[in-house]
Amino acid sequence: MSVRYISTRGQVEPITFSQAVMMGLATDGGLLLPQTIPQVTADRLRFWATLPFAELAVEVVRLFADEEDLPTDTLRLLCQRSFACFAHPEVTPVVTIGGRRILELFHGPTLAFKDVALQFLGNLFEYILSRDGGRLNILGATSGDTGSAAIHGVRGRSGIHIFILHPYQRVSPIQERQMTSVLDDNVHNIAIRGSFDDGQRIVKDLFNDLPFRQQYQLGAINSINWARILAQAAYYFFAWGKVAAGNPEYRVTFAVPTGNFGDIFAGYLAYRMGLPIERLILATNRNDILTRFFQTGCYGTGDVWPTVSPSMDIQRASNFERYLYYLLDEDPLQVQEAMRSLELTGRLEVSANKQQQAAQLFRAVAVSEEETLAQIRSFFQESHYLLDPHTAVGVRAAAHDPEAICLATAHPAKFGEAVGQAIGHEPPLPPALQGMLERPSRCAILEAETAQVKQHIITTLPAL
Ligand SMILES: *Cc1c(COP(=O)(O)O)cnc(C)c1O
Repeated sequence: MSVRYISTRGQVEPITFSQAVMMGLATDGGLLLPQTIPQVTADRLRFWATLPFAELAVEVVRLFADEEDLPTDTLRLLCQRSFACFAHPEVTPVVTIGGRRILELFHGPTLAFKDVALQFLGNLFEYILSRDGGRLNILGATSGDTGSAAIHGVRGRSGIHIFILHPYQRVSPIQERQMTSVLDDNVHNIAIRGSFDDGQRIVKDLFNDLPFRQQYQLGAINSINWARILAQAAYYFFAWGKVAAGNPEYRVTFAVPTGNFGDIFAGYLAYRMGLPIERLILATNRNDILTRFFQTGCYGTGDVWPTVSPSMDIQRASNFERYLYYLLDEDPLQVQEAMRSLELTGRLEVSANKQQQAAQLFRAVAVSEEETLAQIRSFFQESHYLLDPHTAVGVRAAAHDPEAICLATAHPAKFGEAVGQAIGHEPPLPPALQGMLERPSRCAILEAETAQVKQHIITTLPAL
């Protein structure tokens, strides 16, 4: 077996798993994918259903990497280390609340599902760098969630520094402290006097500064890294194993609160590998570009509306191109054409035939702010269980699918204000967040200017 990765746009010579992890975004502007998708037999599914989460993750990932590239024994250590820090012994448990199945993905250090993938990615980066030599300086802008999960994924790891920009005094106090109270030497928080968009612009400027980018080995954190998709695919198999009771024909539906299409693409991957998935319910908030695509075949960008589920307030879903590649018969020329149209006109369209094909597996539902808050309220009244606003979007979208497994992507206390709006009082802080606001913190405060941030990075890093 020899696993190689190619780009959705067809301009990257096949590369190994490690190379794909370090490349992140394909050099031709596309996204990386394995040349073929491995198939899982019914017998193997039954076996996987007996495994603890970390062991199941090993089984999934090893199908996507050559043994010489990532030895299974090493992979096992990386997975054990990645998931040992979760507060629940099952890592990603399935609970049944008032008849509704919920896959809790928020038991990691920052209480959001992104921990599952970013803990793994941090360990993987460290391993590949120690083996191949080299360093990595991660640079990113955050509006809250991704930044803290990334910081917790790489804190204390050798060969890696991380710089995260957040808008000064414009993230919630808890979110701010989740990032700035990490005092490891390799973690560098920067609050910029400006907006999230300013932060994104600065990061983009610095990535476009090619000499700087190369000299300082800048790398990105975002949901396009293939290793993140794999770690997330593992919990679809895990959840299925918990409800299928050893029956390999048992079909399940998942409801997935969706922003950048990363999490739900992992579900699609599991489906393509042979997991018996009936449907994937794609739940969006008012920012419904994906819902419109699956309903009409037209993907057109518009304005971003702020909502109570801010981690899904996106205009363009960074992982969507991966799905498009499969929908367009794995033809990089068609993908190139579609992406060019999106670039030039702000929209792309697929044929009615393709739209119908997509709608057979994906049922897309947009959920309003009122519906989201009403869902939190009614669920709490009926079963005393609090949904975070993102999870509530998914539960609401699955209203007609009582059997669906709903992905719970964040702990409700992370979005206490929205939960408070729904039920009249804010949820109590879980142990992981108690005392958070009193913890010592470290953060540089800079003007929203690219040159200042660049200078700060240069003076902060140990001499080259
Ligand atoms: C990032 C995030 C999402 C959206 O996930 P995607 O992979 O971007 O679709 C949903 N809920 C929460 C809490 C998140 O942090």
